[in-house]
Amino acid sequence: MSDVYDIAIVGGGPGGIASAIEGVGLGIKNVIVFEKGESHFTTIRQFYKDGKRVDKDYKGQQVELSGNISFFDGTKESTLDLFGELIESNHINIRFKNEIESIQKVDGIFLIRTAAGEEYRSRFVVIAIGKMGQPNKPSYLIPSSIRKKIQYNANNIESHEKLLVVGGGNSAVEYANFLAQSNDTTLNYRRNEFSRVNEINLKQLQDSIESQKLKARLGVDIEGLEDDEGKVKVNFTDKSSETFDRVVYAIGGAAPIDFLGKCNLELDEAGVPISHNYESSIENLFIAGDILLKSGGSIAAALNHGYEIVLEIKKRLDSLGVES
Ligand SMILES: Cc1cc2nc3c(=O)[nH]c(=O)nc-3n(C[C@H](O)[C@H](O)[C@H](O)COP(=O)(O)OP(=O)(O)OC[C@H]3O[C@@H](n4cnc5c(N)ncnc54)[C@H](O)[C@@H]3O)c2cc1C
Repeated sequence: MSDVYDIAIVGGGPGGIASAIEGVGLGIKNVIVFEKGESHFTTIRQFYKDGKRVDKDYKGQQVELSGNISFFDGTKESTLDLFGELIESNHINIRFKNEIESIQKVDGIFLIRTAAGEEYRSRFVVIAIGKMGQPNKPSYLIPSSIRKKIQYNANNIESHEKLLVVGGGNSAVEYANFLAQSNDTTLNYRRNEFSRVNEINLKQLQDSIESQKLKARLGVDIEGLEDDEGKVKVNFTDKSSETFDRVVYAIGGAAPIDFLGKCNLELDEAGVPISHNYESSIENLFIAGDILLKSGGSIAAALNHGYEIVLEIKKRLDSLGVES
């Protein structure tokens, strides 16, 4: 059984990394993390703009940290550095560029298969894959000729480009506030009020709109997109249209149903894995982070999930007599 890990963790984001660090801290020896990106925290690298403020109590959710990782307010960069250092100092065994395709339980042991066809075995599994691997996309068709002008993060935008940011959550508002400093930017949200946005972002949004740095098209939805000589013509439901160089959608992410299905997990009607105390419908397979929730989630919440999960796993390993 020497090639059987104690815990295999799928996803090197906050939920997965916390599970690994806290697990190693509890003395669990054979822990392995699989991360499909080239480094840790792929979601944060891809979807947070450079220099972004990172709030511990995100969206005003007051989370008391239960584990041993001291995480605090910072920036995208300081957060990536903090966890990079923790991964190194705790000697966490991470396999980067290893996407997990399926997990099966055979005779009480999990068989974990990578997209490259490799197989690993483990007694316990933590799935912490987040939801941003699959950002939500609009329901209307995006003409293929303008697909390159549509994106789901605020990266690689040139300062001369006229932009439309679509969405009404913190991500959309943060992107719009940030991009409005350098670009002709409009924020579109189908509702009139931003009820899901934290106070700091809301204040910055009001300031940007009042100072006319940012334009807003509120209370109106998008009906469809057209190619306007290589630019994006946006047709709104109030029958108005406007052409932009680029459209940035920040409308959340969806649970990767296919992957969860391949792992044979029971899901609720919203596609969220059914769980009890973080344990899925399959015994010894736990779920951490955003994937556990219908919406919302935060770094601090994911860190707590990881800690609670490995405490339970440690108890079970001890009762199995597994030396750690
Ligand atoms: C724009 C934006 C701004 C935000 N700002 C804040 C903030 O200021 N403060 C805050 O607390 N929260 C913030 N959040 C929310 C926070 O980022 C999430 O709640 C947190 O990242 C969730 O952690 P997670 O581990 O569940 O998932 P993720 O961070 O999404 O990590 C999942 C990891 O799993 C990997 N993965 C996915 N599928 C596989 C697979 N099959 N095999 C291997 N690896 C896989 C991914 O590459 C990724 O690295 C923000 C979110 C967004 C999108």
